[in-house]
Amino acid sequence: MRGAEGTRPAQLSGGVVRENNRNQVRPATEGWEQQTTSEGRPLLQFKSSRVSQPPAHLADLTLEERQAKLKELGLPAFRAKQLSVHYFQHYTTDPERMTDLPATGREELVSAMFPKLLTEVKRLVTDNGDTIKFLWRLFDGSLVESVLMRYPGRITLCVSSQCGCGMNCPFCATGQAGLTRNMSAAEILDQIVQANRVIAEGGLGGLRRDGGHDAERVTNIVFMGMGEPLANYKRVMNAVHRMVAPAPEGLGMSARNITVSTVGLVPAINKLADENIPVTFALSLHAPDDELRDDLIPVNSRWKVDEAIDAAYGYYKKTGRRVSIEYALIKDMNDHAWRAALLAKKLNSRGRGWVHVNPIPLNPTPGSIWTSSEPSVTRVFIQTLEDAGIPATLRDTRGKEIDGACGQLAAAE
Ligand code: SF4
Repeated sequence: MRGAEGTRPAQLSGGVVRENNRNQVRPATEGWEQQTTSEGRPLLQFKSSRVSQPPAHLADLTLEERQAKLKELGLPAFRAKQLSVHYFQHYTTDPERMTDLPATGREELVSAMFPKLLTEVKRLVTDNGDTIKFLWRLFDGSLVESVLMRYPGRITLCVSSQCGCGMNCPFCATGQAGLTRNMSAAEILDQIVQANRVIAEGGLGGLRRDGGHDAERVTNIVFMGMGEPLANYKRVMNAVHRMVAPAPEGLGMSARNITVSTVGLVPAINKLADENIPVTFALSLHAPDDELRDDLIPVNSRWKVDEAIDAAYGYYKKTGRRVSIEYALIKDMNDHAWRAALLAKKLNSRGRGWVHVNPIPLNPTPGSIWTSSEPSVTRVFIQTLEDAGIPATLRDTRGKEIDGACGQLAAAE
C-alpha cells in the first residue's frame, strides 16, 4: 500500500487525494447506489434468489444422456446423434431442415429437445461489420448480451454466464441490478451456436476467405460478458465440456482457446485447476493493493489480492497454462507507475514466466471518474511492467462505438 510507504497523501475535493504529484481518484458509483450490507459493505451475492431455469435442452445433456432421453421418448438412441449434428454442426433447430428424421412426430421431437432459449432483441454492428453485439431475451424475460468479433484467422465470442451479477463492482452496469439467476449450460452454449449461424449466413463481415486462413465459425470464447462465471461454476463447466467435446457431442473447440475469467473467487479457481481441462485462465485484478481493490472489486473483501494471485499461480502450477491478469487502466485511479511496479513485484515473487498482463484501455468518458488513462501514463505503466520482466500487451477494445462496458445494452433496455 503506497500511502503507508510514502508521504501522507493530501486530501482534495470530491474524494480525490494528491499523492506523490499524482491524483488518486477513489472508486465510487455514478448515478446509482450500490446495495450494501448492514455493516455498509457492498453486498455480494453468490447465490441467485431466482432458482427457475429454462426447460432442459439437448445441449444441457451429454451424448449418453441424450440417448437415454430419446429411449425414454420411445425413440431409437441413434436419433440423438442426428439431432446433435443438426444443432452443433448445422446450427439449426428448424424441423423443416431435419429431413433425415421421420416426418411423423418430428416437430414434437424437435420442440421437446430444443426449447427456444434465446430470442434476439437487438443486434448492433460496428468495426466495418467485424463486430456484432447481440442482446438476447431469455425464457423468463431476462436480458443478456454476447459480442462477436472477427480478427485475422480467428473469431472470438464474448459470452454471458449469468443474468445480472452479484459481484457489485462499482463501475459495472451489469452489477447494478444484482444477480437475477444463473444461466443454464445450454443458454451459454446457444450464444455460440447462434453466433455460428450468423457467421455461416455471412453476417459477420462477410465470408472472407482471401489468404485461406479466415475462420468460418467461432474459434475463441471469452467468459467476459455478463456475470461472474465462477459463481455459476457447475453450469459453466458443463458448457465448457460441451464446447470442447468433439462433434456430434459438442462443438469440438480447443480448450486453450476458451478463456475463463474471474474477479477472484479463490476456492473456485482452485477447483478449476483440478478439472484437467486446459482452458486459459484470466484473473481480473485491476489493482495490486488491497486498499484500492477492496473498493474497486468488492469480492476483495472476501479474498485478498495475494490470495487471488496465489490461486492464479496455483492454476499455472497445476496446468502449465500461462495465466492472464486483466487490468483496466482507469485514469488516476489505478494507473500509477508505483502500482505497476507493485504488481510486477507480486507476480515475480511467485515465479517467472507464468503470467502475462493485459492492460485494457477504457473508453474516454468526459466528466466521469471511470475514464481512460492518458496515453503517456499507459505507456509508463506498460514499460514499468516490462522493465520488471512481466510481459504486457495493451488489449484491443472492440465494439467501442457501440458501448464500452459489459451490460450497458441490457441496462438500457
Ligand atoms: S465487472 Fe464483472 S464481476 Fe464485476 S459486477 Fe460486472 S459482470 Fe460482475
